[in-house]
Amino acid sequence: DEAEWAEFDGTGSTDEESAPVPKPVLAVVGRPNVGKSTLVNRLLGRREAVVQDVPGVTRDRIAYEALWNGREFTVLDTGGWEPDAKGLQGAVAAQAERAMEAADAVLLVVDARVGATATEEAVARVLRRSKRPVLVAANKVDDQRMASEVHSLWSLGLGEPMPISALHGTGSGDLLDAVLEAFPATPREQTGRGAGPRRVALVGKPNVGKSSLLNRLTGEDRAVVDSVAGTTVDPVDSLVELDGEVWRFVDTAGLRKRVKTASGTEYYASLRTKAAIEAAEVAIVLIDGSEPLTEQDLRVLTMVVEAGRALVIAYNKWDLVDGDRRRQLEKEIDRDLVRVRWAERVNVSALTGRAVAKTAPLLRTALDSWDTRIPTGQLNSWLSDLVAAQPPPVRGGKQPKVLFATQAQSRPPTFVLFTTGFLEAGYRRFLERKLREAFDFTGSPVRISVRVRE
Ligand code: GDP
Ligand code: GDP
Repeated sequence: DEAEWAEFDGTGSTDEESAPVPKPVLAVVGRPNVGKSTLVNRLLGRREAVVQDVPGVTRDRIAYEALWNGREFTVLDTGGWEPDAKGLQGAVAAQAERAMEAADAVLLVVDARVGATATEEAVARVLRRSKRPVLVAANKVDDQRMASEVHSLWSLGLGEPMPISALHGTGSGDLLDAVLEAFPATPREQTGRGAGPRRVALVGKPNVGKSSLLNRLTGEDRAVVDSVAGTTVDPVDSLVELDGEVWRFVDTAGLRKRVKTASGTEYYASLRTKAAIEAAEVAIVLIDGSEPLTEQDLRVLTMVVEAGRALVIAYNKWDLVDGDRRRQLEKEIDRDLVRVRWAERVNVSALTGRAVAKTAPLLRTALDSWDTRIPTGQLNSWLSDLVAAQPPPVRGGKQPKVLFATQAQSRPPTFVLFTTGFLEAGYRRFLERKLREAFDFTGSPVRISVRVRE
């Protein structure tokens, strides 16, 4: 497959529509007060209102979009963690584990004026085992006389420490260059399977029943798992056993504490939803079945599709749904959920427990689709039959030819088609529909991009 890919890629083909390749993720880790937030703000080039503390809400993990030298990436700010029962060292080490799992590269921020403490040494031990590239920023180097402090950070065994001053902005350009260089060519393809429990985001608009459903899932009749061999449990996640399998529900700290966000934090809530989706492999989008579908529901669904995550739609509060409402709901599905027709739906009640047990099998189906890899040979024999039976429509007197296809990525399945001419949107939709019929991607978005060879 590699050879075929290289051959087709090396022919000066033009991108008709570039594949929405997942952006690489940089996780920023370090002790409190070393300057992580200051640095993240610096990397983003602007102050984010969200960084301000919201009373009653722990700022535990927020994703920001960043851009440097024309390359987009996501910055995962894992700051703001308070020492918990395990102590500061334990909390930061868990944070580092988490960062390694979620990110393509990890940036450890150290206060150069303080040097490497026992905490940094503990975290370095974790990071040295990482398959991900790790960079060390020696922060608070406000003037050049601190060379020896910077040098001493070589002792962490994580390579050359990069001197920066997050406060004054010095060194951040070099740091960003190094970050871009450190990112692997294909982000995060390798994570997931085998990396512990599958990661689930439970999302939906406020009051749809997320806390109730989580409580139901972790309820007395089901074991809440505290630890799984070889897995560090992130304090903001819940490990839940469903249908004989352990799942990691990401970013549930707020749900568990039943944090009700104060007014004016809707933007914050939406960033949090986004961060949870990014951190997950599959999302359960909860929708209130008893009320008309809202814009907010559609926005959450769009976030999942755009993030390229697998999807299960759960209509909650089914105990309140009567015949009239059900007919209305079917109309809403036909009219508003066309874009996610491929997702399975389940009607549940967090209150009564109705159909809650059905979610695990649906999660599995969606993840199987998301993981699917179709061998190039099989894909192309299917494609040539299809195209022979139903060729692309003639445009400007020319018949575009579909030459070859390859699955460039899984998670979600991403296909690249090589053609001799433009393929109309209608024909691309036809191909996607046929692809779904042939290979069954129930529960997963599928991406198709077309490259026109001159
Ligand atoms: P975090 O807890 O790691 O997110 O740390 P913060 O970003 O909140 O920074 C902690 C403190 O260090 C704040 O008072 C910052 O102003 C200060 N700080 C951050 N970067 C620098 C720096 O480069 N030089 C100096 N002198 N102070 C800094
Ligand atoms: P969250 O904001 O999404 O976490 O929603 P909550 O779990 O706090 O639920 C909001 C309200 O809906 C609470 O009053 C719940 O008791 C109620 N609720 C949640 N699930 C159900 C359900 O399945 N049926 C009914 N009738 N009420 C529910």
